[in-house]
Amino acid sequence: MNYVMHICRDPKCNNGWVDKDLTNVKTNPPAWKYCKECCQKLGIDFEKQKPSDYMSEAEINMRRLKVQKSKEARLLKINSTVSARG
Ligand SMILES: [Zn+2]
Repeated sequence: MNYVMHICRDPKCNNGWVDKDLTNVKTNPPAWKYCKECCQKLGIDFEKQKPSDYMSEAEINMRRLKVQKSKEARLLKINSTVSARG
């Protein structure tokens, strides 16, 4: 198991610590975990944080777009049913 310098997921928090390298990072220090202090503040279990919990802003936006599209698709369906009846 490799170890890396990990930085806190909270951009306003400057905490860093040495942690297990779960994501095989090569360049930038990983930042998918909150530090112990932030975990305490947020009520998160430090040990239970997983790399998959972390979503980049791009991923969050992608997900948002998908949700919006499926909502629109549903609305279209409703509208076409209504006009077919009308
Ligand atoms: Zn922190």
